[in-house]
Amino acid sequence: MNLEYSEEYVAFRAEVREFLQGWPLTGDEAQLPVHEQEIRFRRRGIERGYVYRNFPRAYGGSEQTPDVLRERIIREEYAEASAPGDSAGQGPSMLAPTLLELGTEAQRERFIAPTLAGEISWCQGYSEPGAGSDLASLQTRAELQGDEWVINGHKIWTTTAHEADFMFGLFRTEPQAPKHAGISYLLVDMKAPGIEIRPLREMTGASMFNEVFFDNVRTPAENIVGKRGEGWQVSRATLKHERNLIGDPNFMRRAYLSLLQLARDTTRNGRPAIEDPSIRQELAQIEGFFMSLEYTGARLLTATARNEEAKVILPMMTMKLYGTDLRQRITRLALDLLENRSLIAPTEEEGSHGAPEGRPGTWTADYMSAIAISIAGGASNIQRNIIGERALGLPRDLRTPK
Ligand SMILES: Cc1cc2nc3c(=O)[nH]c(=O)nc-3n(C[C@H](O)[C@H](O)[C@H](O)COP(=O)(O)OP(=O)(O)OC[C@H]3O[C@@H](n4cnc5c(N)ncnc54)[C@H](O)[C@@H]3O)c2cc1C
Repeated sequence: MNLEYSEEYVAFRAEVREFLQGWPLTGDEAQLPVHEQEIRFRRRGIERGYVYRNFPRAYGGSEQTPDVLRERIIREEYAEASAPGDSAGQGPSMLAPTLLELGTEAQRERFIAPTLAGEISWCQGYSEPGAGSDLASLQTRAELQGDEWVINGHKIWTTTAHEADFMFGLFRTEPQAPKHAGISYLLVDMKAPGIEIRPLREMTGASMFNEVFFDNVRTPAENIVGKRGEGWQVSRATLKHERNLIGDPNFMRRAYLSLLQLARDTTRNGRPAIEDPSIRQELAQIEGFFMSLEYTGARLLTATARNEEAKVILPMMTMKLYGTDLRQRITRLALDLLENRSLIAPTEEEGSHGAPEGRPGTWTADYMSAIAISIAGGASNIQRNIIGERALGLPRDLRTPK
């Protein structure tokens, strides 16, 4: 089996790499706020056909013919250059594909392009204090009064609610209906009167997620995605994209490369740690899992590009489950290598960083995040249930009454 890229793809990689030399921006553009710089560079990537390849041009994407290898090369090169490409934010990665699939034309036109560019930011309002894994138990009410929904209740664990312009969320609109059938999927302006956001402090020291309280918050009737009472089905579409995002092998690639560097920079028994047989053994195992994750990612891309829905579910769940397990394993080894330095508490900035990159605090923070990420978007046990039931056809788990 020859796993080398053909000449065409080698040339394509060189072309992408050359383009990426334009990041970070230089000259006058380097003086712009970072967010503005990211928007500009992302737009250039869209023009070149590298970014948002599967979104139509009419909605701000670059509408390219599906090509799994090109896709993979682009992701790898963007990750290597730490350049702003397909955004990992909840809006571009979760809401925009959902609107493309199930939104009205007016919703697509209004929201998708600015969301992809990063001009409108979003948070996801699903979980509540009594509704996490058992999400359909959610109680936050939305009542249709004239041409507006009036919302009352309480969401929790809402990542970036404090920065977001809008929320996409699930609300109970049919309280008498069976629990999965009484839910609608609404878009809510986070500046609307009656919204109160209280930050929650995480063990990393950062406050990325929040509680959100709704006191007679109004949102226009047309801000419903899908039909009234069918929000559960719409939410499945969004969650599908979230799970895909969480197992992102590019993040893992950066973390793994940082881990290798750390093994070179630290010592064991007076020699570079990377020469220690037990460390090499663990690194080799991690690399094996990491490579299988990358190939699973390629299978997922292939199935998605071919619209083979039935073949998507297993690699998608595997990516989330094994991606988050692997991240825990990588960070655990990093803390072993850092020895006493792993006890240094991360600073607030280190607590809200991206992939770990050298400083002990970023590793400690990522070790903590790795545990949290195993829960976000559906805890690992829930992923195992889904793999068992939907991909392997095992008998269904016991369910609470509907
Ligand atoms: C970092 C992070 C970011 C998040 N961001 C958001 C966000 O932006 N928006 C949002 O809406 N939510 C968000 N969440 C919430 C997340 O979706 C929930 O935490 C998750 O679904 C689990 O729900 P829970 O916390 O209520 O735990 P529970 O549902 O109470 O689960 C507790 C434990 O029981 C196990 N368990 C539960 N049911 C079963 C079962 N049927 N079979 C086997 N085991 C089971 C779980 O695996 C888990 O180990 C975030 C969470 C984290 C950690």
